[in-house]
Amino acid sequence: MNNRYPYKTFPDFLKRFFPDTKVQKISLNAGFTCPNRDGTKGQGGCTYCNNQTFNPSYCKTDKSVFTQLEEGKVFFARKYPQMKYLAYFQAYTNTYDELDSLKKKYEEALNTPNVVGLVIGTRPDCMPDSLLDYLEELNKRTFLLVEYGIESTNNATLERINRGHTYEQTVDAIERTVARGIHTGGHVILGLPGENQEMIIQQAMQIAQLPLSTIKLHQLQIIKGTKMAKEYAECPTDFHLFNVDNYMDLVIDYIQHLNPEIVVERFLSQSPKELIITPDWGLKNFEFTNRLVNKMAELGAYQGKLFRNQ
Ligand code: SF4
Repeated sequence: MNNRYPYKTFPDFLKRFFPDTKVQKISLNAGFTCPNRDGTKGQGGCTYCNNQTFNPSYCKTDKSVFTQLEEGKVFFARKYPQMKYLAYFQAYTNTYDELDSLKKKYEEALNTPNVVGLVIGTRPDCMPDSLLDYLEELNKRTFLLVEYGIESTNNATLERINRGHTYEQTVDAIERTVARGIHTGGHVILGLPGENQEMIIQQAMQIAQLPLSTIKLHQLQIIKGTKMAKEYAECPTDFHLFNVDNYMDLVIDYIQHLNPEIVVERFLSQSPKELIITPDWGLKNFEFTNRLVNKMAELGAYQGKLFRNQ
């Protein structure tokens, strides 16, 4: 933790590996698909996932990984010519393909000038040992962070949102990845249907026990065109949607229960405005963060204050 932030920040985490240069993530859509829709892992997709954005034509991108990175770099390089980049395989399930095809895309990213590492987002049930063998080797020659969609630690919730995997599978994937010496992150959604405040803090206590390097917190947003949007229309009382102040209090409580070693990378999801049904706070991540930092200072709150190693 540094003096300004009462929690471990992602820029400070990156500084450990890149002390002399600024590093920026560039998001990619590498043309992968989703096994929770094609029947391999499940069908129908996660209930909060937008069906409109998930269709083969949207998913297929004409632009190569190299081109996407070069285009992404233009924006940042104008301001910071010395900037280095992490290729962020973000869209869909970025480990869901044949090993050779995955390798080709990861290596293409790493062969792009000024790209100094990879962040790979995926599902916990899509990490075979054969891929970990390769990633373990890759991790020895570049910066690598594997990021799992945890979403909830509660199996009843995971079933209800049709994630198609259990929390036990999440723990297994994280432990197998960490055992290879790979930095491992996760993201969770706060406010999923059926989860009250007490359950969410219980979740924080479970997350606190995992060997994670990073965690991202997201507020639940109901998105147009999703199964959840229908459920919300039918029974809004089933959902505990937070206003900004309540969410901030929840996040502070959550962070205080976390292991102080876990980097807290972000607090908000920012879906396109035209897709949000509710809640639409109109806040950017940095605006929320500034308010959060001030409130934590007022309260004397800090990450790990309520952490108990179990
Ligand atoms: S959230 Fe991810 S895993 Fe779930 S249906 Fe959408 S793309 Fe697939």
